[in-house]
Amino acid sequence: MAKIYFLDVTNRDGVQTANLGLSKLEKTMINMYLNEMGVFQSEFGFPTTRHESFYLQANLELADMGILQSIRLGGWIRAIVADVEKTFKLVPNIKHLNISISTSDQMLQGKFQGKKSPEDIIGMMVDALEAARAHGAESIGVNAEDASRTEIDFLVKFGLAAKEHGADRLRYCDTLGYDNAFTIYENAKTLAEDVGIPIELHCHNDLGMAVANSLAGAKGAIDGGQDAYINTTVNGIGERAGNADLVASVLASTKSNGFENKYQLGKPIDLTKAWKLSKFASYAFRVPIPINQPGVGANAFAHSSGIHADGVLKDPENYELYSFDELGRGDPELVETGREICSGEYSGISGFSHIMGQLEVSFDDVGRAEEILELVRYANVEAQKPLVEEELLFIAKYPKIAKKLLTLVPPE
Ligand SMILES: [Zn+2]
Repeated sequence: MAKIYFLDVTNRDGVQTANLGLSKLEKTMINMYLNEMGVFQSEFGFPTTRHESFYLQANLELADMGILQSIRLGGWIRAIVADVEKTFKLVPNIKHLNISISTSDQMLQGKFQGKKSPEDIIGMMVDALEAARAHGAESIGVNAEDASRTEIDFLVKFGLAAKEHGADRLRYCDTLGYDNAFTIYENAKTLAEDVGIPIELHCHNDLGMAVANSLAGAKGAIDGGQDAYINTTVNGIGERAGNADLVASVLASTKSNGFENKYQLGKPIDLTKAWKLSKFASYAFRVPIPINQPGVGANAFAHSSGIHADGVLKDPENYELYSFDELGRGDPELVETGREICSGEYSGISGFSHIMGQLEVSFDDVGRAEEILELVRYANVEAQKPLVEEELLFIAKYPKIAKKLLTLVPPE
């Protein structure tokens, strides 16, 4: 039977969200956590955006060094030959891409102002796809933006052209969150059957159905005989009402009625990393995790009513579908209530040595400590908040990579 994979788009869709953003170091930490968790691919950024170049290159170096070991790092670009050319000029080593173009009549009329016909759209996609192949891209997903408002016959035609020219996956974008579980199931099944290519489900949450739609779409793809790649973001952060939440999508795919013990993941997910990842993303984005968030919300395992508390104490399965320790929860959290020395863009050597000492990091000499401190200052300039322990450890361990991440040089 075909399988379910997870392709996380936090570092692309998440960071293009209004009012939100991540530093390049924070994006890198997200990639590290996603990798630890076993996520198949991280859509790690925009290779045609100049200020991403060093970040993308540094993360590809981490992959070459075996640190971002099993995760694939994929870039997102428009399906335009010029964007493909720019991508391989700015980030020559990039191996995985998703190329995107709008397919719906709404977008053809509303966005392209009627200047592009459906045939033009297919032509542009094919040209971009061939250009990416010619530049040596190892895997390419083709995205149909606004797929849920596109005639299914045209989507099939679009998908067949993509497949014929070597696309590895077709991304079905429910760009506006317009689908429901019934419609996306049917569309994904038709595409899987008639195009015969793995299907990505990219679902937005405007009607509150992103996770349910992702699951229904995945079932459609699998029932149609193809692997399903669910697009997620950490904590569901994304454009407008957000995307399908990573943790909830994994839980739904593995614990829900009819999926549990039936549908298989193509790559095992270590959910015990979920808590750490969600907390970090919440801190980095400065967006609190809702109290009722599945799995990682403060109330996800809280019981107060008499009947529930009694029931869960007798047997947790009475009122819990999964256990807190499966998600890496359960350790008490320490919150400093006294003196605190934290990193900052104007930190000095004394405070920095104190912080690193607490992390049990010592430096060979003062010069080395000064060098790492300088990188920490720069990281603080970008993040505008104290670095977390794992960021400090990352900089101390990989100073060359950190330096690259922190390098922002506007073009002349
Ligand atoms: Zn999106």
